[in-house]
Amino acid sequence: MPKRDCVIHWFRRDLRISDNTALWHAAKRGLPVVPVYIRSEWKNHHAWTGSNRQAFLCGSLESLAKNLQTLAGELIIRKGEAVNELATLIQETGAKAIFYNSDPDPFGKKVEAELRDYCSENGIECCAFHDVTLHAPGEVLTKSEQPYRVFTPYSKSWLELEKPSPHPKPGPLHTPSGIHSLELPTIRTWGLKEPEAEILTPGEHAARQRLKSAISGTVQRYQELRDLPAEEATSRLSQDLRFGLISIRTVYQRVMQARETCKPTERKNIDTFIKELAWREFYMAILHHFPDVLKHEFNEDWRGLPWNEPGESFEAWKEGKTGFPIIDAGMRQLKQTGFMHNRVRMITAMFLTKDLHLDWKLGESWFMQHLVDGEIASNNGGWQWSAGTGADAAPYFRIQNPWTQTERYDPAGKYIKRWVEELKDVPAERFMAPPKNGRPIADGYPLPIVDHKTEREKTLAIFKKHRPAK
Ligand code: FAD
Repeated sequence: MPKRDCVIHWFRRDLRISDNTALWHAAKRGLPVVPVYIRSEWKNHHAWTGSNRQAFLCGSLESLAKNLQTLAGELIIRKGEAVNELATLIQETGAKAIFYNSDPDPFGKKVEAELRDYCSENGIECCAFHDVTLHAPGEVLTKSEQPYRVFTPYSKSWLELEKPSPHPKPGPLHTPSGIHSLELPTIRTWGLKEPEAEILTPGEHAARQRLKSAISGTVQRYQELRDLPAEEATSRLSQDLRFGLISIRTVYQRVMQARETCKPTERKNIDTFIKELAWREFYMAILHHFPDVLKHEFNEDWRGLPWNEPGESFEAWKEGKTGFPIIDAGMRQLKQTGFMHNRVRMITAMFLTKDLHLDWKLGESWFMQHLVDGEIASNNGGWQWSAGTGADAAPYFRIQNPWTQTERYDPAGKYIKRWVEELKDVPAERFMAPPKNGRPIADGYPLPIVDHKTEREKTLAIFKKHRPAK
């Protein structure tokens, strides 16, 4: 193809055309834009993803390709090492600048550093933008310019900052013709099987629909119902934020508009929802400032805890066959849908670490393999919170009891019955305490694999013994 003045937009976790910071700036140049997605080979990375998330990615890319056509753009697909592929594309097209939104993960940042080097050595303009959160990690610091380690003061500062508005729709992209592109990837591209889970509809349009229904429904009663897994009363936007199918600025703006028009008594619901968005940004800031959280416990006191070797109990946890109905319901929801309700994520994560004494990293990896919304920062944060080892984590002695959690958050057993077929006809009271007669509560359903009280005592002893003398 003949070389001409043009710029590249490198799509990564920002698979949308609306309110996409880097794409908007690229289009504003007034030059043709080459939008590219570079798929990785994922040869050695399957421990951190799986067919659910990859299938959602494929569907989202398909939808992105269609949406780009409405802007006279054509999505170019390449595969391999990002910097090599971008360098080839620059040579082929004669592009003078490359635009992208920064990635919050250490792996993405490493690639960006290599790209910056390549661009400066080759006289290419490298234009990176902050897009993934309302506030970049460096914007929310303590008075002495240090990162926060605790959520409440972080969220106070975060709430006080003025929030950015969405960008207008970008102008036409006029992608030059004749640029080589691979086919859109399918799940088989990575050697994976079609997901068994029924995952949500991917793509920008579906994400917008979810936002619309969240605003007219779940967000209005968020505080009252968000902890009840049977109610499905949360926004279900996590995978959309993970893949950038919708921008956080748009979510924030729409939610705040709803806040202005709702009854004053309902505002607390929306305020609680906004705080959850701040949790997302808190964990991203933690990962930014302390990338070692991926290697070990955030809290130094708890490094080197003696975890059990994973064996049968880990398998039972993964398969949802622990004999604890709430745990099994959560683990089966995860397998069947690639999603688990937040309350149940906490209960199952605490169970793995405090009742089975298994390393939180095992659970972190299992969740990453199955969650469609698998987000490195939030997942690590959630796991370390539950294990008692993280930034602003639950203190180690506050151990959730799966039986009383059931009584509190699934009193009618609706959630449990939905996901655990064998328990459909069992009265809900039987989900709130271990069976007294030593017999399973239903045919084909296991007895509890551990005794919660005994394991709780063990955990307290392990942590006390390990706690450094102060
Ligand atoms: P809503 O309740 O509607 O919340 C709105 C948005 O706020 C979410 O979409 C999400 O982006 C953000 N959010 C809400 N709660 C949290 C939280 N506690 N931490 C960070 N962000 C939050 N979330 C992920 O997006 N990806 C993960 O991989 C992930 N792993 C987790 C692992 C564990 C062990 C725990 C305890 C939590 C994890 N979370 C994760 C947080 C939370 O469970 C999900 O964000 C939430 O369940 C998604 O459902 P929703 O979109 O309906 O959330």
